[in-house]
Amino acid sequence: MTHRVLPQSPAKEIIEQSFLALRQRAPRQRQLTARERIQRLDALYDEVWRRRDDLKAAMWADFRKPPEEVDLTEIFVIKSEIKEVKKRLKSWMKPRRVPGGLALLGSVSWVKPEAKGVALIIAPWNYPMQLMFRPLVAAVAAGCTVMLKPSEVTAHTAQVIAEIVSVVFDENEVTLIQGGAETATELLEMPFNHIYFTGSPAVGKIVMKAAAQHPCSVTLELGGKSPVIVDDLKSLKSAAQKIVWAKLSNAGQICVAPDYVFVPAHREQDLIDALKTAMLELYPGNVAENKDYQRIAAPRHADRINQLVEDALRRGAKLVHGGQTDVEGCLVEPTILAELADNSEVMQDEIFGPVLPIVPYTHFDEVVEAVNARPTPLALYIYSKRKAFVNEALERMQSGGASINNCVIHVSSNHLPFGGLGNSGIGSGHGEHGFKEFTHFRGVYEQRFDGAGAWLMPPYTPWKTKLIDRLLRWL
Ligand code: NAD
Repeated sequence: MTHRVLPQSPAKEIIEQSFLALRQRAPRQRQLTARERIQRLDALYDEVWRRRDDLKAAMWADFRKPPEEVDLTEIFVIKSEIKEVKKRLKSWMKPRRVPGGLALLGSVSWVKPEAKGVALIIAPWNYPMQLMFRPLVAAVAAGCTVMLKPSEVTAHTAQVIAEIVSVVFDENEVTLIQGGAETATELLEMPFNHIYFTGSPAVGKIVMKAAAQHPCSVTLELGGKSPVIVDDLKSLKSAAQKIVWAKLSNAGQICVAPDYVFVPAHREQDLIDALKTAMLELYPGNVAENKDYQRIAAPRHADRINQLVEDALRRGAKLVHGGQTDVEGCLVEPTILAELADNSEVMQDEIFGPVLPIVPYTHFDEVVEAVNARPTPLALYIYSKRKAFVNEALERMQSGGASINNCVIHVSSNHLPFGGLGNSGIGSGHGEHGFKEFTHFRGVYEQRFDGAGAWLMPPYTPWKTKLIDRLLRWL
């Protein structure tokens, strides 16, 4: 392959040239067979596998991500996504006949899936490879040419990803450009055919505004505050273990992390005890010395989380566990807060860190009111053994996705659509859902033999008027 790794934050001319090369190639890319697309995806996985140790070293350097979790939450996810595409791509690409109906007599109609063209994928830092390559797999499967922009925050990983892309793809098919917000802003000036953005709601709005100038379609995978609702369970142990795992994995830097927890007031202390026990079981000893406990990606993010905790304490919250932060060391202890004021920042902003506020309730209506007063979350978590409780929660509160008696796991499915609603996002990825985001479904109509169409054209003689009237009644 001819690709080179582009310099970081390249000059605007390089961005323009790269875009034009991708645009020129797009019509040919659209015509690639399923086999040719799969060859590229196989090559991508082979190279990811070959660079497995480098990816682990890079993510350790970026934010001390445990190597086991690089395997589980980055490499395995890509492997499984590619596997699903390989199994089903041929069928997804097939044109589908659709009925014409009496009015279209003498014709056939079909829907032809076609690549949208040149796609831009902008990724965040929290799962620096997975959130870049999972949409890339979908875009290549759909037959798009692709520009990639990883996050500048996880710079070591961005470099390894850039090298992987440069080995696997011809630069006219997939190009990776590294840089921060300025580079992203320049990229957004190019007339892409689709933008797949994963990141914060604030930047998502900037992306959508930029897309409106061309205009082009967008997928926005954003974030928000995903609530957990715990029922009056006999034992809270299993729920607490799952909530803690989901909250502390990646040090809470997960878009679908359980953000805050509702619990029946008379069970609040039981839940707090169970959560503390689960935290100590998962990460025993001093977390600063625990190799399984991840760091926050940058001091400014650790500082932001620390400020959320300090603001809550200033407003009267009770610190029931943890609370220590080493900003320069990017370490935030697993923390549980209770007795929170509604207006505390930790109850307004997405936490995106290992801090868990507990909110007691006496009536279910309080939960519904509190959740519905906030922007629609990316996920809703319900822990209950009662069907009626689960159904009521699902019926009365909207969210991008939902998990019952677990947290976060639903994002690993290649069959469930993954995406938000409103402030938590637009569109959805994973498996066929991702393929569809990069695909234009072209409606094609063919007149095989002339039907009664001419009878319905002007001049409208009394006979034709009568015919139209009859058709309207019969059809
Ligand atoms: P971010 O929005 O700050 O950055 C995301 C990407 O946008 C980065 O590549 C960044 O360089 C780029 N960017 C920054 N400023 C920009 C601008 N002005 N114009 C264009 N691009 C710009 O997000 P982050 O801090 O990297 O990630 C955390 C956020 O992402 C959280 O809100 C989290 O919930 C969300 N997230 C969502 C998902 C999901 O799938 N829904 C997954 C992971 C993270």
